Amino acid sequence: MATMNFELTEDLAAFRDLARKFAEEQIAPHARKWDDEKWIPDEVIQAMGQAGLLGVTVPEQFGGSGQGLLGMTVIVEEIARWCGATALFIAAHSGLCTTHIRLAGNEQQQAEWLPKLATGEVIGSWCLSEPECGTDAEALTTRAEKTANGWKLNGSKFWITNAKRAGVFVVMARTEIGKRGARTISGFIVERDRPGVIIGEPEDKMGMRASDTVPVNFENCEIPEENLCGNLNEGYIDALRVLDRGRCTIGSLSVGLGRGCLEEAIKYAAERQSMGKPLHGHQAIQLKLADMETQVEVARILVRQAACTHDAGTPDKQLSSIAKLYASEMASRVGWESIQIHGGAGYTKDVCVERLVRDAKLCEIGEGSSEVQRMLIARGEYARRAAG
Ligand SMILES: Cc1cc2nc3c(=O)[nH]c(=O)nc-3n(C[C@H](O)[C@H](O)[C@H](O)COP(=O)(O)OP(=O)(O)OC[C@H]3O[C@@H](n4cnc5c(N)ncnc54)[C@H](O)[C@@H]3O)c2cc1C
Repeated sequence: MATMNFELTEDLAAFRDLARKFAEEQIAPHARKWDDEKWIPDEVIQAMGQAGLLGVTVPEQFGGSGQGLLGMTVIVEEIARWCGATALFIAAHSGLCTTHIRLAGNEQQQAEWLPKLATGEVIGSWCLSEPECGTDAEALTTRAEKTANGWKLNGSKFWITNAKRAGVFVVMARTEIGKRGARTISGFIVERDRPGVIIGEPEDKMGMRASDTVPVNFENCEIPEENLCGNLNEGYIDALRVLDRGRCTIGSLSVGLGRGCLEEAIKYAAERQSMGKPLHGHQAIQLKLADMETQVEVARILVRQAACTHDAGTPDKQLSSIAKLYASEMASRVGWESIQIHGGAGYTKDVCVERLVRDAKLCEIGEGSSEVQRMLIARGEYARRAAG
């Protein structure tokens, strides 16, 4: 397993401080309202773009700050500390859509889309999952048929984050119709205003409520040849590369949520008195806080280590899966312990912990569930040993 030095540069530390200030001032006071209203206001998204929070992984030549995947994990943790849904917005916009175009798009596509995505002028969505297949995404049935001038898309995508406000979609569709296998699928850039793009109504979710999760249908949607993103029939391979990186993003989202639950518990245990002393004066509570803190720290180390392997050009997929698995399950565990420390107050909407715990559950499901990560980790271990 790779070990990398992930000390933050001065630049990145300053960027982290900027994200922290933004989250404390512009997200924390409103996150509960957004959760109730099931929407993050457009002005907040624009402000994040102006602050540079949407272009972290985009190279400087395309208007981003080029801070790499490590930078992404640092920013996403700060936002998720207060609001999982806003962090999920960034994960889908920057971590999935923007990253796909950056990794697979040609020069012209990068020059056209990355500057707009980096500033939030255009919002991005990434469409892999379908009603009948999420984990088994290779079985997708959305198809792209060749036409005289390009491609015609037909099919249904499901669970698409940001689709309500997205201006551009990266869509995975079968290009070898009637065949199965990873190399029968291609990626396409689809603009929202193309005839045949039909955006549905958002799901009414348990958590991540302020983030819109929406079905998107393509009905005889014609796109030009130049919208093929990446090589023909390699879209699924590109999607897997995007998801390998996404594990670090969702891992850092989990670290932020776990940290939020820990910090709220620390605060409450200092304020609340029981049997003549604050809660944290009782050993039973100290043990809980110590275990929570240890788990948050371990998760952060794993996530940043994994991110650095991608930035170094030697991605450790097994480590990315380990980091995502551990961090996402940690966030739920730490969240429930935080509710326990809050007692009855923790069972109400008066504290933000109940929202953070609801948000956390998604991290065990999205971008490769815990079951999938365990399969990948075990397979990776056998492969590693076989290779000597
Ligand atoms: C809030 C939210 C946002 C999302 N955003 C996006 C997005 O922007 N773009 C996008 O493309 N998708 C998105 N998704 C979809 C998400 O990636 C899928 O929900 C996820 O991949 C799981 O797929 P599924 O829901 O179809 O579950 P299923 O694949 O039906 O799995 C159900 C359960 O069975 C387990 N399972 C499935 N297959 C196996 C197996 N072979 N072995 C062992 N266990 C297995 C799973 O781990 C899970 O526990 C989002 C989902 C949610 C909830």
